[in-house]
Amino acid sequence: MVFWEGYVSDEVMGTFAPIVVYWLYAGMFQLLPPLDNYRLHTRKEEDVKNAVPLRSVVKGVLVQQLVQAVVAHVLFLVTSETGTVGTETQPSILIQIVQVIIAMFVMDTWQYFVHRYMHINKFLYRHIHSQHHRLVVPYAIGALYNHPLEGLLLDTVGGAISFLISGMTARTAVIFFCFATVKTVDDHCGLWLPGNLFHMFFQNNTAYHDVHHQLHGLKYNFSQPFFPIWDKLLGTYMPRHPTLKWAQRADVLFITIDLPDAKDVKLKLEPEGKFYFSATAGADNVPYELDIDLHDKVDVNESKSSVGSRNIFYLIKKEESKWWSRLLKQEGKTPVFVKVDWDKWVDEDEQDEKAAADMDFGDMDFSNLNMGGGEGFDAEVLQTKYLVIPRKDCAIDIYRFESKC
Ligand SMILES: [Zn+2]
Ligand SMILES: [Zn+2]
Repeated sequence: MVFWEGYVSDEVMGTFAPIVVYWLYAGMFQLLPPLDNYRLHTRKEEDVKNAVPLRSVVKGVLVQQLVQAVVAHVLFLVTSETGTVGTETQPSILIQIVQVIIAMFVMDTWQYFVHRYMHINKFLYRHIHSQHHRLVVPYAIGALYNHPLEGLLLDTVGGAISFLISGMTARTAVIFFCFATVKTVDDHCGLWLPGNLFHMFFQNNTAYHDVHHQLHGLKYNFSQPFFPIWDKLLGTYMPRHPTLKWAQRADVLFITIDLPDAKDVKLKLEPEGKFYFSATAGADNVPYELDIDLHDKVDVNESKSSVGSRNIFYLIKKEESKWWSRLLKQEGKTPVFVKVDWDKWVDEDEQDEKAAADMDFGDMDFSNLNMGGGEGFDAEVLQTKYLVIPRKDCAIDIYRFESKC
């Protein structure tokens, strides 16, 4: 028994309910206040990076939904006439759950390979899929902002295949398509709100798909809309940035990147304050990176690093000895992956009380360090310097950046 029984057929609901649900859920996000503290990107970034106005996005979504509605309706009519689906009796809840899970896997599989191919094939990317990537900072209403052909191929055909293979009824399909729609909208909402169930239960979520919309993430995180399985299996999995913790003294920054068993750790530090970190970790060498602009200039020659088993630690010398009001150059909300290192934090007026000897270096494993900056040196980054890593038996004077061996 469903609320639309007796009013509209399951086939009509399966066609139109996802569209209504899309605008209700995305509209809700659109009506929310700015919520600057929960955004993955600042509003300024949204204005600057997105190459298309809201009006065109709404138009684009409506065109795609029109195509989607026509195709879905024809499909429902054809399949229900042949009697393969749309039968009146609903299977048990358990069977329906199994069918929905199968449909999720089928949809994920279809979308992964078609989506990835659209990035590999330059023609398809340039003329079709790049439309979706005009939104570098995604927002809910833009979730289905696609070229109509992409909408047809990825979403509509993907939906049809999932429906047919899973063997679900048109009634179950109404629920499944609405769920997939809400999930897709949520993945593009650009907000990391506490208590969001999708964020708790799905690893493939707003933050995950956001990586794919960034320039550095274009070759990763193709999986959509439910699970990151294909990305993990085929080496295109890029989790969000590792967590960076920071604290400061007048002349130095302490930056700790939490990344257990990191390999190929590289840091490109530039005098202007560019901080580009990359590494791989885990059994499947998952790539991680951070690309940030520090608040002010730094002294690359006087900065050091150490790679530990649980994290990577950087001592970065400020060019000018003064307290920074924040870590990053950009104003507004600090990104979710940047955190204050309360263990090392002191306020400006307390600095003298906290001597260098008191510094807690945690479980930093100095025995794993290499000397010099030769390893991993890349000719392309001649302009920058890899940080010198001190030896195990060297004590570091963090205030003078001298090694005493
Ligand atoms: Zn893409
Ligand atoms: Zn997207």
